[in-house]
Amino acid sequence: MQCKVSKFGGTSVADAEMIRKVKAIVAADADRRIVVPSAPGKRSSDDQKVTDLLYLCHEHARQGIAFAEVFTLIAQRYHDIAKGLGVDPGLDRHLNEVKEAIASIARDGGDADYAASRGEFLNGLIIAEFLGAEFFDAAELIHFDERGRFDEDKTYRVICEKLKGVKLAVVPGFYGSLPDGSVKTFSRGGSDITGAVLARGVGASLYENWTDVSGLLMADPRIVDSPKTIQSLTYRELRELAYMGATVLHDEAIFPVRHAGIPVNIRNTNRSDDPGTMIVPGNGSEKHTGTITGIAGRKDFTVIAIEKAMMNSQIGFGRRVLGVLEDHGVSFEHMPSGIDTMSLVVADSQINGKLDDVLEGLRVEVHPDSIEASPSMALIATVGRGMSHIPGMAAKLFEALSQAKVNIRMIDQGSSELNIIVGIHAEDFETAMRAIYKTFVG
Ligand code: ASP
Repeated sequence: MQCKVSKFGGTSVADAEMIRKVKAIVAADADRRIVVPSAPGKRSSDDQKVTDLLYLCHEHARQGIAFAEVFTLIAQRYHDIAKGLGVDPGLDRHLNEVKEAIASIARDGGDADYAASRGEFLNGLIIAEFLGAEFFDAAELIHFDERGRFDEDKTYRVICEKLKGVKLAVVPGFYGSLPDGSVKTFSRGGSDITGAVLARGVGASLYENWTDVSGLLMADPRIVDSPKTIQSLTYRELRELAYMGATVLHDEAIFPVRHAGIPVNIRNTNRSDDPGTMIVPGNGSEKHTGTITGIAGRKDFTVIAIEKAMMNSQIGFGRRVLGVLEDHGVSFEHMPSGIDTMSLVVADSQINGKLDDVLEGLRVEVHPDSIEASPSMALIATVGRGMSHIPGMAAKLFEALSQAKVNIRMIDQGSSELNIIVGIHAEDFETAMRAIYKTFVG
């Protein structure tokens, strides 16, 4: 029996009309047996996400401020949805229970996880009834250990036991439980992780992630005009693009499915005929087509350039440099080096407020001939499994940047030849992105 896990994001389950689309999608394929809804998201750009309102309720309750008004907004959202769908899974009773529990947990100094998780829980109850599916509380399937770390062994064992052979199940996303039974959530956007964990747990043939875009785009549409959709990419390529800022799936959601080799399909609930983007387990035998998969980039990096004659012959030089970063709790992204030079590329979010101390630490530790920090650096990654073993890919990239009059300050190509990262001045970021896209895609 084939089984697909279908996760629907916040905008896909934001109101009754959207949930009707979900039902049509689920009904269109008998293999779609496990449905993972998020909490109702925004219906328009100025709307509120239910999860945000729930966090607000907890915060008010914690501070001893009345939260009845905010809670009424939440209750109204669910009443509208349930009424629009013509179902009632005992909503009033559940809402009262949730309201009381939020107050009492906050009073006892508990955290916001229970409150936040109720967005998915309540939506799950409604959607299960509307789909005629069995409801499973995620607290019984997804487990964390005493220290709040995801408990793989227990979770996969329980999922296997409880969901085996199920015809149609709804499991709310985003949360699970600690050994004492209390609720714990993943980080924000974590329903993606729930879907991936369930897919691995039941050995799904496909993990579908339904959202409001028709897949991952080859470049940021705010910069490049109407970029093409990526039809398929490997987990590794996704990881490279996501790290550089392309968002479509929660970072941590990739690991469970990657581990099990389950493909992921990003689909659009509003355009269910679009094939979307397939994320597949590359098998190492990809064709070297000379094409790229996507481009992504991030601004806000600082480069610390260290120069010291004969540094290459000093044993332990690199360790001392990195030791200074470690002492200040700073992680680095890249470390290109020359004969007498070494540069550290560090995200501003890491170094802000610590730069002077780090520079002083480096002066004391390695006595450089010169040391200089240049802010406002941007990194752009051009990613593609088709680029490897093709001579001239880097030349093509550099030619595009040179034509666009963009000065390259750093180059980094991993040995897998899966991506080429260039460091440029932040003010050239958009120009460089467009130039690379035009050269490789058109
Ligand atoms: N509702 C949660 C959030 O807003 C989780 C999710 O939607 O994936 O972060």
